[in-house]
Amino acid sequence: MTEIAQNIAHIRAKMALALSRAGRNPGAVRLMAVTKSVTTDKIAQAVLAGIDAIGENYLQEAQNKFGTISTAPALHFIGHLQTNKAKHAVAMFDMIHSVGKIELAREINKRARSLGKVQDVLLEINLGAEESKQGLAPGEAGELLSAMADWENVRVRGLMAIPPPDGSAKYFGRLRDLACELRLLNLSNAPLDELSMGMSDDYEEAIAAGATIIRIGRGIFGERPPK
Ligand SMILES: *Cc1c(COP(=O)(O)O)cnc(C)c1O
Repeated sequence: MTEIAQNIAHIRAKMALALSRAGRNPGAVRLMAVTKSVTTDKIAQAVLAGIDAIGENYLQEAQNKFGTISTAPALHFIGHLQTNKAKHAVAMFDMIHSVGKIELAREINKRARSLGKVQDVLLEINLGAEESKQGLAPGEAGELLSAMADWENVRVRGLMAIPPPDGSAKYFGRLRDLACELRLLNLSNAPLDELSMGMSDDYEEAIAAGATIIRIGRGIFGERPPK
């Protein structure tokens, strides 16, 4: 077994425990391998070991690594997306986790329409009101969803957050509660059934709070080289 396969087996075991402790179904969480700065060779090992999705942060890097062919597991975009690059992201990714502006959402809808696609997206929420981070304030999400209500080529599958590292557990609960609240809007293009939260150091807490997608980089591939 490669080290990467061992890491994945270890994470799967911890996921199963966290799910059973929380009384959730064994298959309720998807394991995403975050592959920024990871070579295709290593990504292939992770795919063989059985991950549910690949998450890339940078469009150019993803294009270099994957081209336009679809990889076996779902390909998700988790980085900051500029509006003028939305076209490329829509062409390539099964889900875009980082929608935090109406202009970007509008462009995604438009580009998806011209490709005859319904693009799955998540709204990124800046839970800790951190200036260094992208995303909507929790109070802005309802307004954005309402503005998008009759857009047919975008489907808001849920919420994503990168909470401040200290005390991330309390933020996970807030993201779950916000999704519940927004579901009451009852919008046909916003099922809001996904919560993308939890990384290498805090995914068990995220699972306890209701995560459906955890995003793991270092826990699978080891430390990233300094930038
Ligand atoms: C890098 C990254 C991750 C993975 O972080 P690790 O600490 O390596 O698990 C998850 N989500 C986003 C948005 C990232 O940029």
